[in-house]
Amino acid sequence: MVTIKSKKEIELMREACKVVALTYEELEKSIRPGMSTWELDQIAEKTMRNLGAIPAEKGYNIGVKGIPPFPSSICVSINDEIIHGIPSKNRIIKEGDIVSVDTVALKNGFNGDAARTFIVGKASKDAQNLVEVTKQAFFEGIKYAKVGNRIGDVCHAIGEYVHSQGYSVIKEFQGHGIGRKMHEDPGIPNYGKAGRGIRLEPGMTLAIEPMVIQGKPNILELDDGWTIVTEDGSLSAHYENTILITEKEPEILTILEK
Ligand code: MG
Repeated sequence: MVTIKSKKEIELMREACKVVALTYEELEKSIRPGMSTWELDQIAEKTMRNLGAIPAEKGYNIGVKGIPPFPSSICVSINDEIIHGIPSKNRIIKEGDIVSVDTVALKNGFNGDAARTFIVGKASKDAQNLVEVTKQAFFEGIKYAKVGNRIGDVCHAIGEYVHSQGYSVIKEFQGHGIGRKMHEDPGIPNYGKAGRGIRLEPGMTLAIEPMVIQGKPNILELDDGWTIVTEDGSLSAHYENTILITEKEPEILTILEK
């Protein structure tokens, strides 16, 4: 079921999303070569808790037998890792890495969700371009996130843009509605047919998240039960924001107005 948030609920969504935006400000300031992904996780968790939020990914259970709950506050996925990488003291960030972080803050019963891909130091031109295209894919998609349009219009715009740049989107994972639950309806794939799916209405809050691969769209899951990597070893990037559908333009809740 797609939930329509009341005025009050939208204010609470704003609060949760602000925590996520502030967490990314901290991570951007802190990330550097030589640091472990565990250290990055500690910074994120501390920031969220100091702002009165709970890192919602920590302990998140997908309910599949044999897969342990997610142990950390952020997912950190480096280079050919696409999503759901587990922070570790042994995983050291290197100059030239592209580091995708995905995190969800839960505050006052509502979730805010966003992802960023950080370029650490100097990365290759190819890596930089992938990161830029992934971010732009989000903005191409939300041009269609307007009342009266359908969710398929957003999905279609993302997929078309990514493919026009010579990259692939993954099909096994997708964006989603968000609110009291981290994952609500509708599912928001990064490809699809325009004119299909639910009609967008004011008060819907949606996490739109292009996950883009430089090479072929095939993916693998590592033995940890979480980390998703590209099958061909090519690079991948991720960019996500929680948005609010309004009567006019969509509002991006996980980017702070300056
Ligand atoms: Mg996310």
